[in-house]
Amino acid sequence: MTGNAVQSIDLTARDRAHVWHPYTQMQTALAPLPIVRGKGVYLYTEDKRRLLDGISSWWVNIHGHSHPKLNEALAAQARELEHVLFAGCTHRPAVELAERLTALLPAGLTRVFYSDNGSTAVEVAIKMAWQYWQNRGDSGRRLFLALRYAYHGDTVGAMSASGDSVFTQPFAGLLFRVARAHAPYCYRCPLGLERAACQIDCLGELERLLQEEKAQVAAVIVEPMLQGAGGMIVWPAEFLAGVRRLCDRYGTLLIADEVLTGFGRTAKMFACEHARVRPDIICLSKALTGGYLPLAATVTTDSVYGAFLSDDRRKTFFHGHSYTANPLACAVALASLELFGVEGRLQRVQALENQLRRRLEPLRTLPHVGDVRVIGGVGVVELVQDKQAPAAGGYLDRIGPELAAEFLRRGLLLRPLGNVIYFMPPYVITDAEVDWAVDQIAEVVEAWKWPEG
Ligand code: PMP
Repeated sequence: MTGNAVQSIDLTARDRAHVWHPYTQMQTALAPLPIVRGKGVYLYTEDKRRLLDGISSWWVNIHGHSHPKLNEALAAQARELEHVLFAGCTHRPAVELAERLTALLPAGLTRVFYSDNGSTAVEVAIKMAWQYWQNRGDSGRRLFLALRYAYHGDTVGAMSASGDSVFTQPFAGLLFRVARAHAPYCYRCPLGLERAACQIDCLGELERLLQEEKAQVAAVIVEPMLQGAGGMIVWPAEFLAGVRRLCDRYGTLLIADEVLTGFGRTAKMFACEHARVRPDIICLSKALTGGYLPLAATVTTDSVYGAFLSDDRRKTFFHGHSYTANPLACAVALASLELFGVEGRLQRVQALENQLRRRLEPLRTLPHVGDVRVIGGVGVVELVQDKQAPAAGGYLDRIGPELAAEFLRRGLLLRPLGNVIYFMPPYVITDAEVDWAVDQIAEVVEAWKWPEG
């Protein structure tokens, strides 16, 4: 048997010998899916199963797998220049992408700093805000304010800004102090109010922290409109507008982590547009390359950038990664942005939102459905054991893996966040495919028997 023949059998068994997967308890987890091909919204396994990618491969894929235009852009760039360091060098894909991004972003976000992934986009933002105040001679501003249920990534700074959760608890002693305010989680309102009657009262805690900490605050960091890994929490736009207003009132920076929401996921190009808000720093990654390659951009204003311009070299922003602004990734990102116009992506996401709303809302009446939330191309069903007294739920809720296994059996790849089922497909999904996927979700939820104990 040749080496190639051996390779083609049972990827899963060979994987188990040497590979360590993220977010996976190797001891007890189901065997990893051996994926050999992707096309459109489908993934194909070595054992000939076809799975609908209902989570866009961890929220990155928007145009479908193996899109001919993106394949072409990648191959063309590889023939010209695959990579060069970005300190002291530049190249056309990076320059053109910076031009495109600054033209698309809310006016005033003019300076693009590249890195590799969502976590580094956030690390860059945190370090940029921290040094901004130092460079301006205001080194007392050393505190970050963030929200409960936040998730900003797995590196140490990003974990510090993230809410307390199973993702961060083992590392608590490593993290720096971040002050935390209420998130507008309306279904589990921190103040026990009803959205229809409230005045976004949950903003009060952020205001109190800003008042108390006043001149200490380097920045407020939020995931605008949709807090992702913390539970797919959809915000009222008024909360986001309020955060901007408070940052202005108390003279601090606003960092918008749009790693998940950027590039149309909420039916606007950027979620900040829902409240016509311009952050001082925005973090972008995930769908930036359409789901092809790791790339991130932390984009800021002339005013923040200006604080780093000096004859004093100690004011330099000393942050750079080996693969900063990788030309292949930048070229694919440009081709991906091109597709928004050519293939009408934002209109598609708006239609997807309408369909998800229409199809998922009726599930509210089912016994174990506590809440249904929809924004753009994201549909969320939060399950509870008791509608009258919904327990906290959370990522480790053991129903998550059981639900995932049942969806997989039906050919739908989902990864519920514990008791929170969400569907976030590539934008190119058809109406019929959405109907099929929602049927699967509805049937599984309807038949769901909450485990005893
Ligand atoms: N910020 C947000 C809002 C995210 O959802 C994520 C990833 N889920 C990150 C940051 C981290 O991105 P990455 O996994 O690319 O490091």
